[in-house]
Parts: sequence; structure tokens; C-alpha cells
Amino acid sequence: MRASRYLVVSDTVYADGRGNPVRLVLNTRTSRVCTLGDNLAWALRHGDCATLPVEVSDQLSDLKILVPEGRDELTDVMDEQRAKARSLASLNYVLVPTGYCNLGCEYCGQVHVRGKTSANHRGAVRDRILRGIRRPSTEEVQVGWFGGEPLMAYAIVRDLARQFVEAAEAEGVRYRSRMTTGGALLTMPKLRALYEECRISSLCLTMDGIGDRRSPHEQILSVLADLVAHADEFPGLRLTIRSSLDVKDVNRVDAFIDAMVSAGLNHPMIEFDLRVVQGWSNDASTTRTARQRFAAAEPRWLRRMHEVGMVTRTLIPAQLRGPLCPAVTRTAEVISSSGAIFSCTEHPLVPEHEQGDVLELVEHADHDRQRPAGRYDDWHDRINRGEQSCAGCVFLPVCGGSCPKHWGEGNSPCPSYKFNIQQRLDLEAARTGLTPLLT
Ligand code: SF4
Ligand code: SF4
Repeated sequence: MRASRYLVVSDTVYADGRGNPVRLVLNTRTSRVCTLGDNLAWALRHGDCATLPVEVSDQLSDLKILVPEGRDELTDVMDEQRAKARSLASLNYVLVPTGYCNLGCEYCGQVHVRGKTSANHRGAVRDRILRGIRRPSTEEVQVGWFGGEPLMAYAIVRDLARQFVEAAEAEGVRYRSRMTTGGALLTMPKLRALYEECRISSLCLTMDGIGDRRSPHEQILSVLADLVAHADEFPGLRLTIRSSLDVKDVNRVDAFIDAMVSAGLNHPMIEFDLRVVQGWSNDASTTRTARQRFAAAEPRWLRRMHEVGMVTRTLIPAQLRGPLCPAVTRTAEVISSSGAIFSCTEHPLVPEHEQGDVLELVEHADHDRQRPAGRYDDWHDRINRGEQSCAGCVFLPVCGGSCPKHWGEGNSPCPSYKFNIQQRLDLEAARTGLTPLLT
């Protein structure tokens, strides 16, 4: 047996409750963190496993920390991710009901124009999704409302969602729905309708330009405070506040945390997700600087947010629950307000992609067939063949390669935990009562 290639051993040695020296070992194939004696952890880190007692070796194999000599773990991981991408049981539709947005976020590469969709557009979208719901292999359908600003098309969302919910109930298919919105048009009555009628159980509010006076944050915060006050009427609603930061925002995060706490949003129904602005059209070197500064500062923000009771994404990266993203599975597709079907959520409303990456038009598509293959449907094979640097990365099982599109554009999209996992392990150690051992 040998140590799995998917282990991260803490640099820090901690003292456990009895004062023994231990380290944390994260296995990214299971997302499990184990506390192991310093000598054993050291042996795993240096691949020195031949002399381990049989009972220890057996325990570590059960935890997938040790794997058989010669095992091709990369192929195992890719097979698991490929299987999720190929399963026909779960269908994922990302719908862009309008090409217009009422905000003007600087980093957004979409072009927003007012205007109606074609006369047959709504009917074609409806028919395509109803056909998916009724397919015998379908066990679950996920519908994501995405923009532009989907609340600019609130009436269309309600009309279509009502029909999807009815059909899913009639077919005994699980129906899940989410919406990504800037939030400026949210009101309590709309929130109720989205939750109760449209069955939106996951709402992602993009709150960018934190501290930016132009954004309508105060009005959004007051609606969210109202929502939190009525949290018991929305059981199961998951609300995420996602803030995409660029370099100038990095020094504003503490003020952002203070504002969220004073608005009462340090509440279990709200999760915070701070991210670095991805390279839509940004200069790559600016984005890289932002990512480095973000990763260095993030552990401190995470600690502060935990201290004030703000829910954040997990410290330790969780397993991928389904396919990496719509672009790597033909069971997922993105339907733009233009009528174009894409595989990638960054294609709709971006002129270059609306011209060059259309897979087919929803009004002409055969609704009994999956979307045609897109640019990134062979992602798992590319990694498995070693054509992407992700093939050698310890985080591949939890990350999946993050974003094929950004890799293709020369921007490395690695999540921040790749750069600050050691500090995250230190936070995890503190959470579980381990104290750093001074050596
Ligand atoms: S390729 Fe990247 S941008 Fe496109 S859907 Fe996947 S994660 Fe999103
Ligand atoms: S995107 Fe980065 S962190 Fe994720 S698997 Fe690839 S190299 Fe690793």
C-alpha cells in the first residue's frame, strides 16, 4: 500500500487534548480531515508507509488514505466525475429569461439590451423543458434563472415555473430551482411567490462593488432583514450573498462584514460567498494580483465571519455533488434570451460567444435530443490524458478543474483554498480544540 496522492498534511504540529503532537491530514477524495500522530503524518507526507503496523495500515486503507500500490487514482477520480456528468437522471437547465439588466457591474462581460424575445421563444423553452421532465430516465430537474437580471422578466419566470412545477409533480420528478439576481427588484411579495409558487429554494444575490455608493445595497439589505425576520415562513430556502471582489475591494471587506452584522444578516439562513472577480474582460495581471491578495487575507475574514455568526462556505472544500458545471455535461444547457443554446453560463449575452458558440437554436432544436456537444464536453478526458495541469493537482477531486473556459483563455481559475489550505487547516484545528505546538 502507499499514501494516496490526494492528501494534504498540515505544516503545523498541534497538541491534542493529552498534549501529544498531531497533524491534520485532509483527504481530498473524501473531504475528510483526520487527526494523526505527528510521526504517522510525517511518514504519509514522505511516502514512507512500508513499515506501518497492519492494523494501522488497514484503518488508513478504509479511510482511502492508503491505496494499493500501482493504483491509477487519477483515472479513478476522473471516472467518478465522468459518471456524474454522464448520468441521465438529473437534467439542468439554466435559463436567461431576459437580456436586460438594471445594474451595470463593471466586470460584467455581457451586453444588456432591452427588447423582446422572438414570438415563439417562450413556447420553445417551455416545450423543451417539459419534454425533459417527461423523459423516462429523468429523476430530477434543476432550473436556474440567470441573467441579465431575471427579475426584469418576473412575469415570464412565474409563468414558466408554474408549468414546470406542475409537470414535475405530475411525473413524480424532483424539481429544484435557483435564481441568481442582483436583488434590486426583490420585495417580500416577490420572494414569497418565488419560493412558494416557483419553488426556488436557492437564491444567490450578487452584491458586488462592496462599499460602492452607486449600488442599491441599502434597499436590498432592508428586504433581506425582513426575510430573516420571517425565516420560519421560508423553511429550506438557502440564500447566498455572493460578493465578487477586485483589488480595490480587498480593503473594504471588514466594513462589509460590519454592515452585514448591523443589518442582522448573521443568520443561519444566509451564507456568504466572497470571490475574486473572474476574468471576463479584465486584465489578467490585475486579476492575478487580486487572487493573491484575496487568498492571503481570506483566512482572517473567515475567522472574523465565524466569530460574528456569519455562515460561510465550508473551510474544508466539499465533494462535488454533481457535474463540475453545465459545460462538461450534455444533460445541462444554457438557453439565452436570444434563443441560442449554449453549454457555458458565460456565453449568453456576450457578443463574441452569441456569434461563435451557439450550439443550436431552441426554436429549431429537437427536444428529444440532448444539446450538441460544446467546447468543454471532453474536459474529463483532457485531464485524464494529462493535457491540463489539474491532472497533477491534489485538489482535483474537490475542484474538478474549476472552470474549463477560464483555463482555455489562459486564466488559471484555481479556488483560493489551493493557496491558503494550510491556514484553513489551522482554523479547523482551532475549531476542534487543537492548539499549535511550538517546536
Ligand atoms: S466553463 Fe466555467 S464559466 Fe462555463 S459553465 Fe463551466 S465553470 Fe461556468
Ligand atoms: S483548477 Fe487549480 S485547484 Fe482546481 S484542480 Fe486545477 S490546478 Fe487544482
